[in-house]
Amino acid sequence: MSYRYKKLTRRRFIKFTVFGATIPFLGGVIDEVEASKASKAVMKYQGSPNGNEKCSNCIQFIPGKKSQANGKCKVVEGSISPQGWCTAYASES
Ligand code: SF4
Repeated sequence: MSYRYKKLTRRRFIKFTVFGATIPFLGGVIDEVEASKASKAVMKYQGSPNGNEKCSNCIQFIPGKKSQANGKCKVVEGSISPQGWCTAYASES
């Protein structure tokens, strides 16, 4: 039987304690941020552009992993299409 014993040092104990307490805390913060966003219905979100205005060129948009993939929005909850639009649209200029 192979058993690798690692001594529980003070440093290792602190690492595990801090890491273990941080993960649930971050999960709670992320849930609160998402819950504080406006609903798509309230912001009149639509999955298509409004003329030249669309999520991909809005300052509130957080892109997904690929340019055509859905991303997130800083103010509207849920998955957001880069081709979408809502009444909170804001451009840089
Ligand atoms: S604010 Fe509206 S238009 Fe801008 S990224 Fe969010 S959902 Fe899209």
